[in-house]
Amino acid sequence: REEMNIIQGALELRTKTVQDVMTKVEDCFMLPSDALLDFNTMSSIMESGYTRIPVYENERSNIVDILYVKDLAFVDPDDCTPLSTITRFYSHPLHFVFSDTKLDAVLEEFKKGKSHLAIVQKVNSEGEGDPFYEVMGLVTLEDVIEEIIKSE
Ligand code: ATP
Ligand code: ATP
Repeated sequence: REEMNIIQGALELRTKTVQDVMTKVEDCFMLPSDALLDFNTMSSIMESGYTRIPVYENERSNIVDILYVKDLAFVDPDDCTPLSTITRFYSHPLHFVFSDTKLDAVLEEFKKGKSHLAIVQKVNSEGEGDPFYEVMGLVTLEDVIEEIIKSE
């Protein structure tokens, strides 16, 4: 029964973690911070279909900004505006969440905050050097809702 599945899904929010439902970093549509908003870049953004696009510097694990598609409303592709001009102007806050955070906790965060997307990271303490934050992917409210309403 559908109701049972939803209740089941809701109960699982306490045990499942962000890592179980996130979109992995290699599957994320992102832009490099030095991109130019020319015709090609703007077309690929539109084609991606996503409304929020993380922006990385140098490597994909280093996310520094987030672009909202609606930020492009006044951008003319003929101007080849640097992406950084736009991200600096809007300067949307970035939200981070640790990969082992339980889904009920993330849901509370999403309900509180303005943004419904968070960058998933973990502390990487493997290897010789100091521990560092490593980006694992992104998670949105939609991913959490999916977990509640999906019927298994
Ligand atoms: P909205 O539905 O609010 O317009 P959207 O379709 O861009 O936004 P969501 O509906 O929040 O995104 O998420 C749908 C799925 O797409 C989720 O699984 C989410 O993890 C994934 N997703 C969101 N943004 C990206 C992105 N930039 N790259 C890859 N996957 C993304
Ligand atoms: P996004 O989350 O992609 O930035 P958004 O903020 O425009 O999109 P939603 O997150 O879907 O919109 O909705 C946020 C709240 O704003 C909801 O309560 C929704 O009902 C309300 N809302 C969205 N669009 C409008 C609108 N055009 N007029 C009035 N309320 C709206």
